Amino acid sequence: MRVLLPLPLGEPYDYRVPEGLTLSAGDYVLVPLGRREVAGVVWGAGSGRLAPGRLRDVIRRFDVPPLPEAGRAFVDWVARYVMSPPGAVLRMTLGAPAALDPPAPIVAYRLSGAAPDVAGEAGLRLTPARRRVLDVLTDGPPRPAPELAREAGCGPAGLKPLVAAGLVEAVALPPAPVPVPDWRRPGIALTPDQRAAAAALVGKVQSGGFTTTLLDGVTGSGKTEVYFEAVAAALAAGRQALVLLPEIALSAQWLDRFAARFGTRPAEWHSDLTQARRRRTWRAVASGEARVVVGARSALFLPYADLGLIVVDEEHEGAYKQEDGVVYHARDMAVVRAHLGRIPIVLVSATPSLETVVNAESGRYDRLHLPERVGGAVLPHIDLVDLRAAPPPRGRFLSPVLADALTATLAAGEQAMLFLNRRGYAPLTLCRRCGHRLQCPHCTAWLVEHRLTGRLKCHHCGHRAVLPSQCPSCAAEASFVACGPGVERIAEEAAALLPDARLAVMASDLIHGPAEAEALVRRVAAHEVDLVVGTQLVAKGHHFPLLTLVGVVDADLGLAGGDLRAGERTYQLLHQVAGRAGRADRPGRVLLQTYHPEHPVIAALVAGDRDGFFAQEIAERRRAGMPPFARLAAVIVAGPDRAQVDRVAQALGRTAPQGEGIEVLGPADAPLAILRGRHRRRLLVTAERRLNVQAALARWIATVDVPAAVRVTVDVDPYSFL
Ligand code: ADP
Ligand code: ZN
Repeated sequence: MRVLLPLPLGEPYDYRVPEGLTLSAGDYVLVPLGRREVAGVVWGAGSGRLAPGRLRDVIRRFDVPPLPEAGRAFVDWVARYVMSPPGAVLRMTLGAPAALDPPAPIVAYRLSGAAPDVAGEAGLRLTPARRRVLDVLTDGPPRPAPELAREAGCGPAGLKPLVAAGLVEAVALPPAPVPVPDWRRPGIALTPDQRAAAAALVGKVQSGGFTTTLLDGVTGSGKTEVYFEAVAAALAAGRQALVLLPEIALSAQWLDRFAARFGTRPAEWHSDLTQARRRRTWRAVASGEARVVVGARSALFLPYADLGLIVVDEEHEGAYKQEDGVVYHARDMAVVRAHLGRIPIVLVSATPSLETVVNAESGRYDRLHLPERVGGAVLPHIDLVDLRAAPPPRGRFLSPVLADALTATLAAGEQAMLFLNRRGYAPLTLCRRCGHRLQCPHCTAWLVEHRLTGRLKCHHCGHRAVLPSQCPSCAAEASFVACGPGVERIAEEAAALLPDARLAVMASDLIHGPAEAEALVRRVAAHEVDLVVGTQLVAKGHHFPLLTLVGVVDADLGLAGGDLRAGERTYQLLHQVAGRAGRADRPGRVLLQTYHPEHPVIAALVAGDRDGFFAQEIAERRRAGMPPFARLAAVIVAGPDRAQVDRVAQALGRTAPQGEGIEVLGPADAPLAILRGRHRRRLLVTAERRLNVQAALARWIATVDVPAAVRVTVDVDPYSFL
């Protein structure tokens, strides 16, 4: 048998199946590897490359349902596409290694039924604490020791003598059943538009088969309620559903709505789970007990027993691209997973990605449209603040126009939001006297001041430092000044402007874990906060009924870099942020501060001309031969020794395939020319869509000698050009 191991090895390894064991593809098994024992998955019949006598035996099979065919095909497909070893992809499927063994039973305690006088016989004194333990156990179910100790108000040591004396005995509790979402509960009454869209999705789930549907609805049109109906249909058909969210840590409101619709929370999958939770969820997904999974991109790789529907919410989100380890785009791979499983997938967005729009226009994807907000709410009005005409006071960042609007909004008892996609206090700190800039010692990047935590931080490698009291270059004392704003600085300015406002700052470095995020979102929704200042975290699907003003501090910020998707991404992000305003009965207003009112992205946002913007952007990509009209791949060469990295990069440049529909640019210094102390060079490959770019890349890279200290990584369909 061939067994694929969750390790970055080239291929599955052959093993012998010992007498008495029957194995089929998909079975989870334990096998020896060198001196270790590793859990893997049976991938098929042996290759026959190794003489039977040299094969080692499979140790045992785990008692877990096998990984279904679609799940295995998916691992192979993704590995080929992103050019990673299949074992590295399998590792994401085995996201909770210890889950393969059954969970340790929960031990609980109950009265043994022995008469209390055994206590005397055993020489045990029934202290008041011990009596309380017995009293607690007299009524009610068996309880685990910590719970018992809490209820009886005694220390955990109080129990042992009672067990020793035979008054109390231990029992193993069966695992708590996974709650099943109840699709029979009535949902909210849908509007006619919503009903039509929901019916179309339900039809696709019922008839099964692979379809991709773009659910394209304006912000606040009730897209979630609509795809809940598709989830209900999958449940009714007895199958599993997966909902991918870009930022699961911020999904408290989503989870509440799911619970309101289905009577219980779904299974969650993200990096913030405890090991025990991971193990339980993994097993429930593999057994089919977990009927609905909501998760971040990694949830796509779970071993679903019978997946019947995938929903990708906010499908345009950059967070779906995983940049470390196996580099993949979860939205694109979700479409592949749906194809392999022959099931429908729904891509949801108010500002779909250009790739998806092109696929919808060409008819490859179906499109459902929700053109209006629910309950008579109207889309917010977007206005420009031309910073050339109405500049902020010196050293500040909020124009008087925006400042007045904030004051008026809060005075009316409404909420406001200020958006700036930059963490920290200031992106750059320099010496007033000599101009020395504080830079990361390991990266080509400035250190960002975080005043709330009193640290300078590198946003690329995490390096931390304290602000030096003396300039390292000219030795001037206390000469450092902050340049430019981050959210913390905007919050400081807003607090000075609105001293009575209850203010909250929302940025990933200030929120520790999903519970904190949830608490903050709830405080805003409950109007315990008047003004939210935040990074892109605030743009996500939140629904704050009293929020009527959104101020975008620097609408030009994302346009500066000028990479392939800068315009598209800025449009999507600002449109999403704008969509937070006026979602209930009070109309919303958005103010975009800009120095470039004539920029096509800014102009399209103000005109509300999304489709016009897309049409223009699509035409441009087509003309430039850029995705989605061509394939793109980045090759990154990195290593600690600069000369060595240059040698490899140049060798790649010399041997690069050119012509016949493929073109390679570079090598060039990456914008992050040094990252974590490693020098980096980039090559960019463009190829016609008909070409098998992976095969060409593999052939090419294999021709170049790469020393062990140098790493060559391929990023197929790159989104980051750093
Ligand atoms: P979107 O995801 O399109 O931005 P949501 O699904 O978040 O919109 O819906 C916005 C708000 O409107 C939510 O609070 C939702 O519960 C509510 N809503 C959606 N559809 C309806 C409806 N048919 N009737 C009443 N409320 C609705
Ligand atoms: Zn750094």
